[in-house]
This record gives sequence, C-alpha cells and structure tokens, in this order.
Amino acid sequence: MKDGYGRELDYLRISLTDKCNLRCGYCMPPAGVPLLSHREILTLEEVFRLSRIFVSLGIKKIRLTGGEPLIRKNLVWLIRMLSGLPGLETIALTTNGSLLCGRVGELKEAGLSRINISIDSLREEVFQRLTGKDLLCDVLQGIREAEEEGLYVKLNCVPIRGINEGELIDIARLSKHGRTDVRFIELMPIGCASKYEGIPSEEIKRRLEEAYGRAEPLTGYEKAGPAEYYRYPGLAGRIGLISPMSHPFCKDCGRLRLTAEGYLKLCLEKEEGIDLRSPVRGGASDGELREMIMEAVKKKPLGHSFGSGALDTDKRRMVQIGG
Ligand code: SAM
Ligand code: SF4
Repeated sequence: MKDGYGRELDYLRISLTDKCNLRCGYCMPPAGVPLLSHREILTLEEVFRLSRIFVSLGIKKIRLTGGEPLIRKNLVWLIRMLSGLPGLETIALTTNGSLLCGRVGELKEAGLSRINISIDSLREEVFQRLTGKDLLCDVLQGIREAEEEGLYVKLNCVPIRGINEGELIDIARLSKHGRTDVRFIELMPIGCASKYEGIPSEEIKRRLEEAYGRAEPLTGYEKAGPAEYYRYPGLAGRIGLISPMSHPFCKDCGRLRLTAEGYLKLCLEKEEGIDLRSPVRGGASDGELREMIMEAVKKKPLGHSFGSGALDTDKRRMVQIGG
C-alpha cells in the first residue's frame, strides 16, 4: 500500500489505551488527560480485525503502544492472534517497563519479537520527579528480564535540558553487544512537551564522543527505521540517535497510527486521518474497510512542521497517540 507521494506504508503503530500509570511531564499533564470511556475504546477483537485488514494491505510490522499498553487486559491474547497473521513479520511493544516484571515470558511465548522500553533517568529522585512515580527499580528489573528472555531490546531516552542531561553518558552504558541498543530521541514540541527543552542529537553525539571515543556510523544497520546508529570504542552496544527535529525523516515515513478510539492517524503531528471505529461498529465489510483505508492513506501529509512556528492541528497529547 502506497500513499499519495509513493511512500510504501508497511508499519502500523497501535495505541491500545490512553491510560498510563506514569505521568512523564513532557508527555501528559500532571492531572492526566480526559480519558476515553470503556465504550469509546476499540475492543481487542476490533483491534485484531483492523490489524488483519492492514496486514492484508501490506503492513509488515505492528507496534503496540499506549498510554501504557501493559495496562490493557488480554494483551497476550492479542499478540498471540497477531502472531498467526501471514505476512506480519514483526510484533513489537513500546512500554515504560514498570509493569513488565514477571510478564516477559508470556509475551515472548505469544509471539512478541521486539520490545522498546523507555528510560529517561537512572537516578531515583529524577525518575520520580519526571514520571511522578517511584518505580525506577521495577523498570530496571523489567529491562533485565527482557534481556534474559532474549528479546531484542531497545531502550529509549528523551534527553531534556536541566533534567537528565547529566546522565546521558550513564544511560548509554546500558547498551549491550548485539542485544540491547540505547536510543536517544529528540523531544518533539507536542502538548506539554513545549515547556521543556530537548537536546539536539548532534550535541548528544559529541558528548558521547567525549566520554567513549569517536563515533563510527553503522550505515547498514536498521536502515528502514528513523534512527542513525553508531558504535563507540568505549561502549559495548549500539547507540541510536533519532532526530525528528534536527533531521526530519518524513520523506521516508512508512508509518500509520491507530489510536485507542480507532482513529487512523496519518502523521504524528497532524490531524489528518479517518475514524475507523464507526464503520467497524456500523457493519462495514472487510472489503469496505480496505477501500476506506486505501483511500485515506493517499492523503498522508508530506511531513510534520514542528519548529516552523505553524500550529499543530491535532490537539491529542503524546499519551493519546502512542509516540
Ligand atoms: N508508555 C509507553 C512508553 O513510555 O514507552 C508507550 C507510550 S509513550 C507515548 C511512547 C514514547 O513516546 C516514549 O518513549 C516516550 O518517551 C516518547 N515521547 C512522549 N512524548 C514525547 C515527545 N514530546 N517527544 C519525543 N518523544 C516523546
Ligand atoms: Fe506514560 Fe509513556 Fe507518556 Fe510516560 S511517556 S506518561 S510512561 S505514555
């Protein structure tokens, strides 16, 4: 399936819930967001049906996200069902890791192949200040369990000026040869993130070079994704830099997003998209849904306009989109 600019669309991010047990200050307001009602959220059966249709249209990778996806009951059932879809090559999960302990085995057994765990600080006091919860130990234990189970792990950190900038050297050290990559993601000015200052990837690269030696680009590795990967002489594993602000990767964007209420979102920043929940619940056939999706994706915007001064048209917060 291609969009109006000829970009191949093969990656779908599905947000399973708008609820989260953490309150990362750059992602959602301290009081939380107005939550969708139970009725407004797609059931997992509806999520599976839509996933099946998307995969039949060429989606090869599905990432389950949130809010916090591990809050969603029967997540293991969904992963097991997805793993039976011919043509779907990768089932990934993005989680804050705090609810992961004791669950990695069943997720892997159901068919999960990759896991991204967010970790913005290794200092208990900073972690608590940033996320509103004293759960750093649980996250670290979750990371250990994911590594021990042999899942392919990516640790995601959003560097923020004055919050975790003194820790990036330590966080990079969590990378492990061939098994755990650490990725630094530039902060995007969505919703409450505007009150924080992100740190550009170039600066991260330079700071890591001061600590670990000259960065060697890994040009052939994970070419399809948005990260640029490097190896440093003083570090065991790979470091990824994701630079939506300083080096937008929109021209190669093959992503679609399905929000928890069933809205097919065509660009992280923009409102463009269509409601799929109404036709799903209104009795649309698989064929009709396929047509609607193929028609909608033709309007995928060329790119985001973060940093241009233009107002983002979608008022959803990151916790409601899923990253
Ligand atoms: N709760 C899960 C988690 O934290 O991994 C999944 C949802 S969260 C919205 C997905 C990712 O988006 C996290 O890695 C988070 O750090 C990132 N994120 C949230 N707001 C962001 C922003 N404004 N800019 C860049 N990344 C952001
Ligand atoms: Fe929750 Fe993830 Fe957002 Fe933090 S980044 S508030 S863990 S959804």
